[in-house]
Amino acid sequence: MSLIESAHEFVRRYRNRDIDKTALPMLASACPGWVCYAEKTHGSYILPHISSTKSPQQVMGSLVKHHLASVLGRSPSQVYHVTVMPCYDKKLEASRHDFYSDLYMTRDVDCVITSREVADMLAQEDKSLAEITEQPLDSFAKVLNIDDNGTEAGELDGHQGGGSGGYLEYILRHSASALLGVTLDDLKYKTLRNEDLKEVTVEVNGKVELKFAIAYGFRNIQNIVQKMKRGKLLYQFVELMACPAGCLNGGGQLRTSGEETAKQRLAAVEEIYTSVRINTPYDNTLIERLYTDWLGGHDTDKVKAMLHTEYHAVEKFINALTIKW
Ligand code: SF4
Repeated sequence: MSLIESAHEFVRRYRNRDIDKTALPMLASACPGWVCYAEKTHGSYILPHISSTKSPQQVMGSLVKHHLASVLGRSPSQVYHVTVMPCYDKKLEASRHDFYSDLYMTRDVDCVITSREVADMLAQEDKSLAEITEQPLDSFAKVLNIDDNGTEAGELDGHQGGGSGGYLEYILRHSASALLGVTLDDLKYKTLRNEDLKEVTVEVNGKVELKFAIAYGFRNIQNIVQKMKRGKLLYQFVELMACPAGCLNGGGQLRTSGEETAKQRLAAVEEIYTSVRINTPYDNTLIERLYTDWLGGHDTDKVKAMLHTEYHAVEKFINALTIKW
């Protein structure tokens, strides 16, 4: 749902780009490491460019506390919501005041556990994941009481796009179709200075219409931000993620074991990530039903309240002792 809402936001910003100079480039918002850095370091200049769409964790927070709870006949504070995430920064994200309900005195996400902490908890019990009996997952449509005529989302052979949820890939495909009437085949990424900095373009009749980039790791993030400040950034969307190689390499992922190097571990995680079958975000009936049943449509105040957030520039603390007179 975060992917879909981000794509809608991009299309709105693109259409508004001549009126609102901060509409483009749109910068991804799913990584709290990058968002905290932008709030602390680049303040009001960069913040209007960051997509206001909540990250997947916080969209799920809204869904669980403000929709699932009501479907179950509970108050949001009677539901305890736990997420398992690849990084410690997701704990900071969940603790932001923007994701706390003063009315119900509860957070949208109550507890964030990293993959590494899950492994540590199992180790404390002297168990491994392989010993745990698999249980079928609850169907979202069933739990949320949505009659989707049994057509819950179709499946894809694996995650598409980079190792952080595939924001660029989905937004590019959606906007090429919505803005240019073009259906894209396989995307051809051009690697720039390093593997974590790539760009992709959509051309129509030889003219570049859309130009997006992926920038993972702080070295590449700084490069993008500096270019933006100099007015030299030519991308309309950038998927920025704080960790080199993205979330698959997040600080909360499992430690390497035995002889295995960090590079081998990352390659193994990437292989799993790109091979696991997932529900497709494209033409997803269940998500469309959530827009109609829960949010009252696509462009409503409720969509703004439940799926979007705000960012806040952190005032720099000036210590008199550090001032050079
Ligand atoms: S890129 Fe790293 S810091 Fe950002 S959300 Fe992913 S794991 Fe967390």
